[in-house]
Amino acid sequence: MSLNIAVDGPAGAGKSTIAKLVAKKKNIIYVDTGAMYRAIALYILRKGTDINDPDAVSKDCLGANVTIGYEDGAQIVYLNGENVNAYLRTEEVGNTASKTSAIPAVRARIFDLQQKLARENDCIMDGRDIGSVVLPNANPKIFLTASSEVRAKRRFDELTAKGETPDFDKIKADIEQRDYQDMHREISPLVKADDAHLIDTSDMTIDEVVDTICSLIV
Ligand code: C5P
Repeated sequence: MSLNIAVDGPAGAGKSTIAKLVAKKKNIIYVDTGAMYRAIALYILRKGTDINDPDAVSKDCLGANVTIGYEDGAQIVYLNGENVNAYLRTEEVGNTASKTSAIPAVRARIFDLQQKLARENDCIMDGRDIGSVVLPNANPKIFLTASSEVRAKRRFDELTAKGETPDFDKIKADIEQRDYQDMHREISPLVKADDAHLIDTSDMTIDEVVDTICSLIV
């Protein structure tokens, strides 16, 4: 059986940064499932579908075929064959993904892909429902969190470093709204699996978090 590490948690908890480093250290692949949901959101945005109309999103998402590949260890997301990595990390796509990912037909588009990747590869996979739904046998399971203040500050610093002039209060409000949506949806809500290890990264360095996770790998 392959080594499957599940990392779940709210937006901005540091999941992707940490998971990428663990993947490198352990020589396994990193699977970013948020990017898959973002790719479907991008498709829906480009198509102009009303994201508040679940029937329309359910119908239109059937036209989105998401696959992934790796280049120099980095995950590339293909949407109907197009490399869309450059378009996925915007606030608009993230906020749309948080809405469209609550729709069962959207989740069904990428569920099999996630399970197949884990079956065929040693991997660390991050998302919202990996330990609870997608990979119930993953070991270890990690639930990574941090206060919304700290998460908003990290996002603020990231955008500032890119030369943007972000609004801290807006970032914090968006993060809190996404948390609410992700935790309160009917299908695959963000929850800590009973057997997941809770790691609050608010006052930890990146290295400390990586070492903690590596120490849990048996
Ligand atoms: O992690 P990231 O911010 O890229 O995820 C974007 C959105 O995709 C999340 O807000 C969440 O609604 C959704 N998502 C999900 N299940 C996952 C990963 C992401 O519902 N496993």
